[in-house]
Amino acid sequence: MTPADLTFDRQHIWHPYTSMTQPLPVYPVARADGCELTLDSGEKLVDGMSSWWAAIHGYGHPRLVSALQEQAGRMAHVMFGGITHQPAVDLCRRLVEMTPQALECVFLADSGSVAVEVAMKMALQYWQARGEARLRFLTLRNGYHGDTFGAMSVCDPDNSMHSLWRGYLPDNLFAPAPTSRFDGEWDERDIVPFARLMAAHRHEIAAVILEPVVQGAGGMRLYHPEWLRRIRRMCDREGILLIADEIATGFGRTGELFACQHAGITPDILCLGKALTGGTMTLSATLTTREVADTISNGEAGCFMHGPTFMGNPLACAVASESLAILAEGHWQGQVLAIETQLRDALLALRDNPQVADVRVLGAIGVVESRRPVNMAAIQRFFVDSGVWIRPFGRLIYLMPPYIITPEQLTRLTDALARALQKPELFQS
Ligand SMILES: *Cc1c(COP(=O)(O)O)cnc(C)c1O
Repeated sequence: MTPADLTFDRQHIWHPYTSMTQPLPVYPVARADGCELTLDSGEKLVDGMSSWWAAIHGYGHPRLVSALQEQAGRMAHVMFGGITHQPAVDLCRRLVEMTPQALECVFLADSGSVAVEVAMKMALQYWQARGEARLRFLTLRNGYHGDTFGAMSVCDPDNSMHSLWRGYLPDNLFAPAPTSRFDGEWDERDIVPFARLMAAHRHEIAAVILEPVVQGAGGMRLYHPEWLRRIRRMCDREGILLIADEIATGFGRTGELFACQHAGITPDILCLGKALTGGTMTLSATLTTREVADTISNGEAGCFMHGPTFMGNPLACAVASESLAILAEGHWQGQVLAIETQLRDALLALRDNPQVADVRVLGAIGVVESRRPVNMAAIQRFFVDSGVWIRPFGRLIYLMPPYIITPEQLTRLTDALARALQKPELFQS
């Protein structure tokens, strides 16, 4: 990439959550192989992010590449209205088999945010079909469900700056975020405000929507699975639907194939995305029970009112099927456990550092919460100079590497993280 290319990028291209007038630096990446990103300059960085939860098998996995190439040679895309194809059927069969038994019907869409829109629309159509006006969602503070408007309306109101959209966003219900930690004691008081909110609004609530066990982009918090068992029971009692957003947690990241399994519960609607294609392309899926699907289908519209242009894209389905085939071989379990063990050893020791407010580890996720927000440009430079790709946000420096990372590569990540904490200039004052 030439300096002119970088200037063009700075002047004309938006990056995620950045300013067009004060953009943060971007690093040109030329290749990605296994657990390494290669910069244009030739420098190699060990990847600690899996490209935001997605690249679980690492980059350029030969089986994913050949699934993609073979499908590209046959049919890159064809409309899904009135047509079906083998890659979609193979993928949906795998999804129905690997998710809890009650989840039987699959809607394929383009991205995680759209999967959440689809889930919320399904809940609204479900109640519409049952002749009840239920137009609100109950969720937890510190949640993150995507950037489209429906999804944003159930994201943490402060983190996602609901103040910007006042008067436009639907008015949903927010219970305080869980405080009982994943590996801590269950505190009965934790769930009381949630239970009160549900009781007070039980005839208005279409569904509860939450990220099971791990609240991702809303704060990387790990909460007690008892929350999920209680909420499942309350939803059952009131007939309220439960939507589990496993877009980040799905496909083994937390040590279980799906995070709901930590609590042994089944949601009525399940959203999947991110790692679905092993990080190769964008695809999401929303699964429901037969009861939800039948109720919607027997309603006034006689169908579910959604159908994206690129629904069931054969390329994405073929590569997703292959990614799930790799998962089905089961190596991920040992890999995630080994990562968890090593992250615990390396990161829990950092608790004593005066810069550190908290350390949390679950599965292949390691989080160090600092006392002060990072200085983004400086810490990013430091990590790149240290040969690692770690992208913190706010006070959170976290690792979620590809499952195939070697112990030596993981040590490079945790060492760089530990060294960053020794440098006050990498944090805001
Ligand atoms: C990333 C994420 C989304 C949004 O997915 P996109 O593909 O970015 O639209 C939704 N929910 C959760 C829990 C996520 O982590």
